Amino acid sequence: MYDYKCNKCGAYLDPGEHCDCQSKKEELEELRYMEAEEHEDEWEERYVRSVS
Ligand SMILES: [Zn+2]
Repeated sequence: MYDYKCNKCGAYLDPGEHCDCQSKKEELEELRYMEAEEHEDEWEERYVRSVS
C-alpha cells in the first residue's frame, strides 16, 4: 500500500504525483487578478460613454 500524501492538503497521491492544490491556488489568484483588470476596463468604458 502506498503512503504518498500531499503535505499541504493531505490528499492521497500516486507515487511521484504532485498534488495540484498549490498550483490551483496560484491559478485562482491569477484569475482574480485578471477579473479585476477586466472590471477596471469596464469602468473606464462606462465613464467614457457617460462623459461623451
Ligand atoms: Zn495538496
